[in-house]
Amino acid sequence: MAAAAAARIVEVRETTRVERIGAHSHIRGLGLNDSLEARHVSQGMVGQLAARRAAGIVLQMIKDGRIAGRAVLLAGQPGTGKTAIATALAAALGQDTPFTSMAGSEIYSLEMSKTEAITQAIRKSIGVRIKEESEIIEGEVVEVQIEKPASGVGTKVGKLILKTTDMETVYDLGGKMIDSILKEKVQSGDVITIDKATGKITRLGRSFARARDYDATGQQTRFVQCPEGELQKRKEVVHTVTLHEIDVINSRTHGFLALFSAYLISFLGDTGEIKPEVREQINGKVAEWREEGKAEIIPGVLFIDEVHMLDIECFSFLNRALENEMSPIVIMATNRGVTKIRGTNYKSPHGIPLDLLDRTIIVPTQPYDEKELREILSIRCEEEDCQMSDNALTVLTRICKETSLRYGMQLIMTSSLISRKRKALEVDVEDIKRAYQLFFDEGRSVQFLREYQQEFMFNEVDDRGDMDI
Ligand code: ATP
Repeated sequence: MAAAAAARIVEVRETTRVERIGAHSHIRGLGLNDSLEARHVSQGMVGQLAARRAAGIVLQMIKDGRIAGRAVLLAGQPGTGKTAIATALAAALGQDTPFTSMAGSEIYSLEMSKTEAITQAIRKSIGVRIKEESEIIEGEVVEVQIEKPASGVGTKVGKLILKTTDMETVYDLGGKMIDSILKEKVQSGDVITIDKATGKITRLGRSFARARDYDATGQQTRFVQCPEGELQKRKEVVHTVTLHEIDVINSRTHGFLALFSAYLISFLGDTGEIKPEVREQINGKVAEWREEGKAEIIPGVLFIDEVHMLDIECFSFLNRALENEMSPIVIMATNRGVTKIRGTNYKSPHGIPLDLLDRTIIVPTQPYDEKELREILSIRCEEEDCQMSDNALTVLTRICKETSLRYGMQLIMTSSLISRKRKALEVDVEDIKRAYQLFFDEGRSVQFLREYQQEFMFNEVDDRGDMDI
């Protein structure tokens, strides 16, 4: 029985974390030098120098923290690294600056209105750095009493009398403080500190008055002179939360008491709509804290991929939201040319209304040349732990040139599995060819549909062979 239990424990210990490889997991940053020039290959990024440099300038603007409410549009053909650049920017921003990423289509949810979805995304992208003063009290323990409940179960209660320079204070002990006291083996005559914000008690040693005490081993106990002067220390605690997190906590609990509870924040799930009154109250409170110098706003980044999926209502809401001083930097990406603005019959560049375009700085991305494609593929091979021969890489690069970078990337893993099946150590040209035959790219798929249109249900290919895709 015991052996079986031990064996089970070993099993759990041996479980290793599976690292997943995402489409952009090879990207670690923008790969810029100190003067914001893009290095040709760095931090997983290849080429696209002008767009990366532009992203570097945006990064600098965000880091300086002075600007809010700007819009940037990354515009270029599919697979030219727009999402990759936004991912790199997020990586370069670091932990403290909020970065929210969403696809335009995400706003069409049944759970909340479109404007609520955008508002939540905006508020997730604004950080509030709150400074809070926490008091640490240091003193000598006069007495500790911990009472066990009569039944032997339930919460323990207790009292602690602490002497500081000018007075004796009686503290009612809660669960956390009692745990701390028992852990530190606190007793009369000890000098301790109590952190008022967390309830944490730390035992510093014995007080000077009892310097002659000896412990069980006969060693003289370490003593600390109970300081005569200032016994109360203050320290500053800084929390960074997003406006959305404050909204969520306060739409579930009452008052601002739960505001700083990191514990609560870590358990927050999705909420439905948040009442405008709650947001108004929070905006007011945050403005008050800013005036008192207790809080600082950190405008982060809201990245909207496939932005042409937004409709006219969303664009106009977004346009208005950008005017608010508590607005993040909005980075949008699209691969569309001149097309209809969703929800209207009007066409405009990228399917974005002209008034929003007018306040947007546009960063174009360019298609890659063969050398760059090869470099990106080689980085991906490394990321996917795939050994590939030089010739195979050349063939794969050519396939990318003819089809798309994304399709070529898909062939890395598939051809690697094929090569493993024939017990080869590296992917060779024959594996790439096999994968290419097995999996169609978009062009061949369309060709296939044209040839076999009669065999499919609901086919909408017109007489000329054009499709409405
Ligand atoms: P779409 O318009 O279809 O959304 P996109 O421009 O957003 O395309 P990405 O998704 O960024 O394209 O790029 C396709 C793939 O190529 C991703 O896996 C991306 O990480 C990688 N990639 C693109 N450009 C680069 C680059 N310059 N350096 C390294 N990897 C890149």
